[in-house]
Amino acid sequence: MTDAAELRRRTRALLDAHPPATTDRRDFLRARFDAGLAWVHYPQGLGGLGAPRSLQAVVDAELAAAGAPDNDPRRIGIGLGMAAPTILQYGTDEQRRRLLRPLWTGEEVWCQLFSEPGAGSDLAALGTRAVREGEDWIVNGQKVWTSSAHLARWAILIARTDPDVPKHRGITYFVCDMTDPGVEVRPLRQITGEAEFNEVFLTDVRIPDSRRLGAIGDGWRVAQTTLNNERVAIGGTPVPREGGMIGKVAATWRERPELRTHDLHQRLLGLWVEAEVARLTGVRLRQQLAAGQPGPEGAGMKLGFARLNQEISGLEVELLGEEGLLYDDWTLRRPELVDFTGRDAGYRYLRSKGNSIEGGTSEVLLNIVAERVLGLPAEPRTDKDVAWKDLAR
Ligand SMILES: Cc1cc2nc3c(=O)[nH]c(=O)nc-3n(C[C@H](O)[C@H](O)[C@H](O)COP(=O)(O)OP(=O)(O)OC[C@H]3O[C@@H](n4cnc5c(N)ncnc54)[C@H](O)[C@@H]3O)c2cc1C
Repeated sequence: MTDAAELRRRTRALLDAHPPATTDRRDFLRARFDAGLAWVHYPQGLGGLGAPRSLQAVVDAELAAAGAPDNDPRRIGIGLGMAAPTILQYGTDEQRRRLLRPLWTGEEVWCQLFSEPGAGSDLAALGTRAVREGEDWIVNGQKVWTSSAHLARWAILIARTDPDVPKHRGITYFVCDMTDPGVEVRPLRQITGEAEFNEVFLTDVRIPDSRRLGAIGDGWRVAQTTLNNERVAIGGTPVPREGGMIGKVAATWRERPELRTHDLHQRLLGLWVEAEVARLTGVRLRQQLAAGQPGPEGAGMKLGFARLNQEISGLEVELLGEEGLLYDDWTLRRPELVDFTGRDAGYRYLRSKGNSIEGGTSEVLLNIVAERVLGLPAEPRTDKDVAWKDLAR
């Protein structure tokens, strides 16, 4: 039985064998993974010990107190939050052993090749084709808004393998090597001036069948695991009280009394309370997660996160007046990590606009909450039984 005391003992043994002050960062992370202290709820041999997920905090606290390096989770969010749980659930033993360790240590960055120019909210309409040729699949198509593709070694990819069946049924899920010939990554500049994301063109990319995740034609079901985890990864990250976006504006409020007005005070207090409610809801969601996979409730969390980020960063720009309109840098940058609350007020305001689009738009998440959480009648879906090849595009 791996309880908190046992985890503390193992963490101290790791620190004794690999003192953070004298151990190379990568070696320390590899040793932590091999000791089962990376994500304690994962199985033994895959970075975990099969312990309750809630006990991860025990390990993290011990390691932080000892000044141990972490795996820079903001840089590898797609791998940790989305690819890993999907590989764990649907991968073969060989895939899990090959892919999870460098994913967790950050030696291999992951990206997500899902959205296409004609398939975002209606993701199941996607047109990228994968055609079987012997032991390989030949993939052709275009993906878009692919965050971190310029840094990535691997991608989770969904492609159409059977155009003759309705759209949800003819999709298969693959792991794509971003260094393979035929994968072309081009930057897309966004409202902040940076290019976090990319267009990705796939031309005759050869993916071995051994890199398929899940059964042929079952890709939509596999993708649900990724998408449910994505919403929790975007909206459900733990924050301390008065952390995140509300912490930024509250700090400005305290440090700059000359900016205060009664009206802004009332609005700030209202948003502070809402941010605290959202934070506590996140704590509850993570407790549910500790007991199993995330369900559609994650959609509600992500909805609130996007709305609050936009309102709070908007209030900060108003509070700062003319100063809030200044923007530090419009040169095209390729950031290594995405920090919603980083840089200045102008950046935070502009970046938060993407929060209600990425990981599913707020309108689509409202539909999910309505149908799958509240049990309201579903939207009419006239194309449900029509072969994908016969759909209007
Ligand atoms: C910062 C950022 C990073 C991203 N990173 C990635 C990534 O790494 N990988 C990836 O695959 N994708 C990524 N995306 C893409 C993202 O998932 C899509 O943009 C999103 O799903 C919406 O799709 P779309 O852009 O095609 O808009 P559309 O689906 O065309 O939607 C247009 C508008 O119509 C509304 N709408 C559509 N359908 C409905 C409906 N049924 N009911 C009500 N309203 C509806 C939408 O809410 C929206 O307002 C990223 C997006 C952003 C902004």
